[in-house]
Amino acid sequence: MLDLRAQYAPLRDDVRGALERVFESQHFIGGEEVQGLEREIAAYCGVAHAVGCNSGTDALLLAFMAAGVGVGTQVLCPSFTFFATAGTVWRLGARPVFADIDPVTYNLCPESARRAAERCERLTAIVPVHLYGQVADLDPLFALARERNVPIIEDAAQAIGARDTSGALAGSRGAFGCFSFYPTKNLGAAGDAGIITTNDAERAALLGRLRNLGAETKYLHREVGVNSRLDAVQAAVLRVKLAHLDGWSERRRANARFYDAAFAEAGARDSSIPLAAGGFPLRTPRSAPAPAEHIYHQYVIRVPAERRDVLRDHLLQQGIGCEVYYPIGLHQQPCFEPLGYRAGDLPETEAAARETLAIPVHAELEPEQRERVAAAIVTYLSR
Ligand SMILES: *Cc1c(COP(=O)(O)O)cnc(C)c1O
Repeated sequence: MLDLRAQYAPLRDDVRGALERVFESQHFIGGEEVQGLEREIAAYCGVAHAVGCNSGTDALLLAFMAAGVGVGTQVLCPSFTFFATAGTVWRLGARPVFADIDPVTYNLCPESARRAAERCERLTAIVPVHLYGQVADLDPLFALARERNVPIIEDAAQAIGARDTSGALAGSRGAFGCFSFYPTKNLGAAGDAGIITTNDAERAALLGRLRNLGAETKYLHREVGVNSRLDAVQAAVLRVKLAHLDGWSERRRANARFYDAAFAEAGARDSSIPLAAGGFPLRTPRSAPAPAEHIYHQYVIRVPAERRDVLRDHLLQQGIGCEVYYPIGLHQQPCFEPLGYRAGDLPETEAAARETLAIPVHAELEPEQRERVAAAIVTYLSR
């Protein structure tokens, strides 16, 4: 799915030089590298402030804490997402309220979100997830958030540098934008790391305290925070890689365009046409036109449920990486059973969980490799 060694090879000297600086300074927590990264990410994402922390999961946790999510409150989010989106809500003693997705973009469906919000008495935040690197349909969600007087917290873990249909960058419009630098994300650290963006100086200051156990000054705590600081080692590596991010995103888009064309030639349609409409049994992802920009964290195809796992096994047998993101909606996770959801409650989420498959789209993918991936899929589905 990913070739991190190929990504590292041309960066080797720069990464080692950056690490050498950190080790010579022996300044491992906070400090110049971390502040430098926070400034650079804020500028890259078009926001006033960025606050580093330990992971994307903690970015969500800290943003929720800053927004007052706690016991007895509710947070609206999609079910078709990585576990952390809702797991962090639960850990704060609050309840995730799941809405369904749009079957074309796989992002939070505004109508479903509105219906779910109607069932909430103590709604505290709405969390669109910019899944696979495409920004969710934010305007109707902001309208809903204004009506309910709650903040939008963007889970932008998969979407650094992506733009919405108005051209705004992921993480720049919500009260908070939460990013992950997990090694396999488009901008990956050498371990766990994350960051939270915000345009509000007070919110940034609050996050700065919350990630440092709530300390206002040394040994003075007016609030209880967590230990979730960003290491200088991670910041130094990320600063080297940030300079390459736009180029990598462009290569991902070029790979996506290649697949779009190769599959269209075989008769595939984009995902706005249901699989049931017949034709070649594959649908390609649909991306909104400019100024929107998809960063293709994943390139996700859709095939009939009865063929999905067989196709996956077939590709894996040929040494072609592929992965199902996500095989189970969060509303059907055993740990969330107490919430009372049942099979059939979120039909689009459940269908996507059965029919989607992510194929390699990373920046280091060679032309021969992507040709082999497309050919293997087309040949198999043509049978
Ligand atoms: C990766 C991811 C996270 C969590 O980030 P970590 O750095 O792994 O903790 C949260 N939400 C989404 C949508 C993600 O893809």
